[in-house]
Amino acid sequence: MSRAPTPDGARVLLLHTGGTIGMKEGERGYVPAPGFLREQLERLPQLSDRSADRRGHDFVTPRFSHGRRAYYDLIEYDPLLDSANLDLRDWARFATDLATHEADYDAFVLLHGTDTMAFTASALSFALEGQTKPVILTGSQIPLAQLRNDGLDNVLGSLGIATEAPIPEVTLFFHHQLFRGNRATKHDASGLDAFTSPNIAPLAQIGVELDIRRDLVLPPDERPFRVRTELSRHVAALRLYPGMTHEILANFVRAPLEGLVLETYGAGNAPDLRRDLLDVLEAAIGRGLVVLNVTQCLRGTVSGAYAAGRALAEVGVIPGADLTPEAALTKLAHVLGRGLKREEATSMLMASLRGELTID
Ligand code: ASP
Repeated sequence: MSRAPTPDGARVLLLHTGGTIGMKEGERGYVPAPGFLREQLERLPQLSDRSADRRGHDFVTPRFSHGRRAYYDLIEYDPLLDSANLDLRDWARFATDLATHEADYDAFVLLHGTDTMAFTASALSFALEGQTKPVILTGSQIPLAQLRNDGLDNVLGSLGIATEAPIPEVTLFFHHQLFRGNRATKHDASGLDAFTSPNIAPLAQIGVELDIRRDLVLPPDERPFRVRTELSRHVAALRLYPGMTHEILANFVRAPLEGLVLETYGAGNAPDLRRDLLDVLEAAIGRGLVVLNVTQCLRGTVSGAYAAGRALAEVGVIPGADLTPEAALTKLAHVLGRGLKREEATSMLMASLRGELTID
């Protein structure tokens, strides 16, 4: 679907993958319903100006404050999925679909369930190399079809930012805030303010004005555009807890595991008096397992401040700085999927590929 550029607006592709935003109320609660989101978009005047020339697109919004409109098309996935059902294959599919339409649109908005949105956003940030156009993930806690809902603000905000202030990163827009996708995490199961970005301020906020933190936006990614969909499925996350036995750890790190996100205490600490656990990790790392240390705390970073943290580094665990667990897992899948030598994989894991961690 090739579209001519529009001087008074942006061409946006809206990809509906599923999630609460497009759900319909059924006998057993909210269910995904094919075609239902399109009906809602047609019904809402803020999202569809039916008196305006759509220039061949499915929808056009009214004018945003700078006078520009979003001319947008809707693609609905079949089947629509609760994001709890998504996995690495879906991330690869979304990345490939974005690449297929890359040349025809100025920006992309992915409607997605909130439960695993931060994982998909992180995975896409690593998959889209040389990205020059905005990719914004959004969704809602209450379906767009309900009278009182947060979906309208979230979709309108995403289309508005894509049109008025395009930020060429994978971002996540929710409750008036635009987060870097690989820094975001869902921190509230029921509040409308469901996401946060604990280690970096939002890239933009919508209040009376649209306030953009240009100083935080990544410089253009100069690499040629390409999509990387080779992901290792053999990655896992393990939250450390007091009393973990070495048998449990040894079982967990067995083949075919290739990469482990170890969620440790505080500033990256593990019990340095538990030689049995450290021995299991050391042996697994010796066999080729890549272990990345991130903190269980919502905010903060892995540091070498404590002996209890250094013990992990001494057996070869890689410090993951202030990566979120979502970014850590998807980054491991991405880096290990590329089949690099251990040194190269380690330096990629410790580097900032797409602004996902803070280099001390
Ligand atoms: N379970 C839903 C999902 O993640 C929740 C939501 O959309 O907010 O798909």
